Amino acid sequence: MKKTVCLLLACIILLMPISSCAQSAEKVSDSFLLMDTLITVTLYATPDTDTAAIFSECRAILEELDALWSRTEEESVTTCFNLAKKGPFAADWKTCDLLERALKISETTGGAFDITVAPIVMLWQRCEEEQRLPTDAEMLLALSQTDRKSLYVLGTNIIKREDGTQIDLGGIGKGEAISYLVTYLESCPIEGALVSFGSNVAVVGNKPDGRNFRVAVKNPIDGNDYAKVLELSAGQVLSVSGDYERYYTIGGEQYHHIIDPATGYPAESGLCSVAVICEDGALADALSTALFVMGETRAREFYASGVYDFEAIFITSDGVVSTTDSLQ
Ligand code: AMP
Ligand code: MG
Repeated sequence: MKKTVCLLLACIILLMPISSCAQSAEKVSDSFLLMDTLITVTLYATPDTDTAAIFSECRAILEELDALWSRTEEESVTTCFNLAKKGPFAADWKTCDLLERALKISETTGGAFDITVAPIVMLWQRCEEEQRLPTDAEMLLALSQTDRKSLYVLGTNIIKREDGTQIDLGGIGKGEAISYLVTYLESCPIEGALVSFGSNVAVVGNKPDGRNFRVAVKNPIDGNDYAKVLELSAGQVLSVSGDYERYYTIGGEQYHHIIDPATGYPAESGLCSVAVICEDGALADALSTALFVMGETRAREFYASGVYDFEAIFITSDGVVSTTDSLQ
């Protein structure tokens, strides 16, 4: 359980420098601290573009989604659902749409990704505050409340089958938010844009010189090295899940934040990082978490099954980097 690799990196995907820009477009960035994350939007636009208005709309989009899905916000849909008794819970279509897709990903990944992992996540948070490990009884209770079949979506209602069912959208919400930003930015009068949530990155359009944007995935075993440099084309999202990003510190030991829903403990799959590239932000985000839990062998079988269209990079706990076919 002890974490041997504990590099806390503020940003695990690096945006590569742009080598040359057409004279007409200039680069301008803004950052927001939302969703517990530093979010940076970089626009390539002509000087007469109202970039302040674009940034302001980006912030409004993110604030709305954060207010819906935050697990710590008292008024959020997530919090209200988590406190509700079993039965139908009326929600907005954005949340219902995301939940429906999250439940499908749970099903197809055999529960490796599971938004009902919330009671286990909260147990670890409480244990960190109290500086102790979970007891067996606490873990058994949290495990019994973690069940992807204990809720389903019907129109704009979420049907909760058990009082104890709670959701945590921390493994999919940022990816979904990045797709909302991409859709908005595609409608803006700009040449291109990069959106970075640290562990989720998306591109809109191309660099002003017409080439694809390049991003580098860090190798956590050697923080100075890149595991892979990728060219992302318009509409693609890259999402990374790593055991060095966030963790609970208890008695000086670090317990990382990606939970294996089968055991209730941080996943020990032999991987320290997984990157997923695909065209759907929520899917990229959820799959990076799921493949991390599965481990490389199961993850490759899942890739070969062709359920979803994606590519992946695997970094094992001893630093070996490998990729799926199309990235080689
Ligand atoms: P990510 O950083 O995208 O891998 O997501 C990790 C976050 O998702 C954690 O901080 C938890 O809030 C939540 N989470 C942890 N384990 C799982 C899991 N197996 N399935 C779904 N969400 C999870
Ligand atoms: Mg994720």
